[in-house]
Amino acid sequence: MFVPASRRQFLRKAAFLGSGALLSAAGLNEISPRIWRQPMSFEPNGSYWARSQPVQNPPLATDISVDVAVIGGGFTGLSSAYYIRQASPQKRVVVLEARGCGNGASGRNGAMVLTMTDDRYMVFSSDPSMDKRIYDLTAQNIRHLAQLSAATGIDCDLETNGVLQVLNTSDDVKAAQAYVKKARALGMPVEFWSKQQLASAIGSSVYEGAFYDPSGGQVHPMKLVHVLKTAAESAGAEIYENTAVMAIEEGRQHVLQTASGHIVRAKSLVLATNVFAPRLGYLRNSFVPVREYVAMTAPLSERQLADIGWQKRMPFNDSRTEVYYLGLTKQNRIHIGGGSPSYAFNDGTPGRALIGAHSAQLHRELGRIFPKLAGVEFEVEWDGEIDWSLDESPAVGRTGKDNNIFYGIGYSGHGVNLTSVFGRIIADLEADREDPWKAFPFVNRSLYYVPNEPFRCIGAKCGLAWYRIMGE
Ligand SMILES: Cc1cc2nc3c(=O)[nH]c(=O)nc-3n(C[C@H](O)[C@H](O)[C@H](O)COP(=O)(O)OP(=O)(O)OC[C@H]3O[C@@H](n4cnc5c(N)ncnc54)[C@H](O)[C@@H]3O)c2cc1C
Repeated sequence: MFVPASRRQFLRKAAFLGSGALLSAAGLNEISPRIWRQPMSFEPNGSYWARSQPVQNPPLATDISVDVAVIGGGFTGLSSAYYIRQASPQKRVVVLEARGCGNGASGRNGAMVLTMTDDRYMVFSSDPSMDKRIYDLTAQNIRHLAQLSAATGIDCDLETNGVLQVLNTSDDVKAAQAYVKKARALGMPVEFWSKQQLASAIGSSVYEGAFYDPSGGQVHPMKLVHVLKTAAESAGAEIYENTAVMAIEEGRQHVLQTASGHIVRAKSLVLATNVFAPRLGYLRNSFVPVREYVAMTAPLSERQLADIGWQKRMPFNDSRTEVYYLGLTKQNRIHIGGGSPSYAFNDGTPGRALIGAHSAQLHRELGRIFPKLAGVEFEVEWDGEIDWSLDESPAVGRTGKDNNIFYGIGYSGHGVNLTSVFGRIIADLEADREDPWKAFPFVNRSLYYVPNEPFRCIGAKCGLAWYRIMGE
């Protein structure tokens, strides 16, 4: 085919500029972590749950050599330390936490204790028998958390009378009915609730029906941190708080540098750092850190409680893309979280205007669900970061050039229960007992690639905008 010279020149220039743009994008993606470094800082936890933070342990005050160093004192870190000591009581295990245990998502969440992983919640994968295995594994873990709480003598307000996913549209109702039919045939004890049945359980008639999972429940997250911290220490793990790890020199024996200048040498390392892992140079391209907001009312009076009629007291989340979740505490406080998540460039902190907009959104939604609570003030409001994986599926596994670094990541807002399942798996992987877990899809799986800044920001903002449109 004949192409005129001017067009040929144009095509050549376009090809040159196009490939130049792609190469610069690839180059920028490569050098981005060196340009936009993330500070090793940890915002204090301003949640209602933080009022119950257990007394903090002293920081590390000397250099030490250990078998296993766990970085992070959230649910993943504390449960890993507990299970590693259970599996290998001869090993010296330490947990190093930058602030107090539960300062991260574990002490800031929506308190819903859920079965399954986020990607398989109310959705069958291509392998329903595996879905059933994951249901059984996660339901059994909730019972185990209740046993641990009893064994430590710490009441973590764990209520296991079920959770609801309330359904916003008739299409959601059809999908839930189909799911329940198939799940029950597989032996999962879940139920579909009609609009009337749901209204008499939670007192709100704004939804079309509900999916009920009797295995789930709710908990006081910081009291659960206390349970896991106590269990880990009783099993012989040492926990140092206000001990931030600033750098890791990887090897057969890792060398960790703490903020106070002390050195920890460790044969194995557990990265239980959730959204902070990239600050230590790990898991940078595995998830998107998004911020969610939660608010809590003062205790409701008996009259207010009777007026709204939340008889069954069980927590619920809705079926919208921008999900809302609500719970009623033992002290009759209502907490509501969710709505529009936000993303700040390079994992920065959001501005005040944004926080105010989220607060107004949560107020509006509470008043919509329970009109009698319209205008009720929030006593506490806070936020926290969630490690979203691109397919909302989590991962637990090992990495590092000597294969002696273990991690759990990508819980995607579904980690209150799953974290301690992963703690158990991490302990087995660390002890080279991989066989019982090999079949599970989240073990040693590769996560979808998330690019570095500024591409992550562009992708996250577009994704969240799409969520917003779908959520309306
Ligand atoms: C607002 C919100 C609502 C949520 N609601 C729910 C819900 O209702 N149900 C549910 O199942 N899940 C929910 N989740 C998710 C759940 O809370 C998390 O998946 C879970 O708590 C993750 O626990 P973790 O131990 O892995 O991480 P984290 O609890 O974040 O712990 C990581 C810890 O590592 C420490 N750390 C990090 N870097 C270093 C370092 N360099 N040195 C030392 N220490 C370090 C941090 O200080 C932090 O304490 C929610 C999360 C948020 C934020």
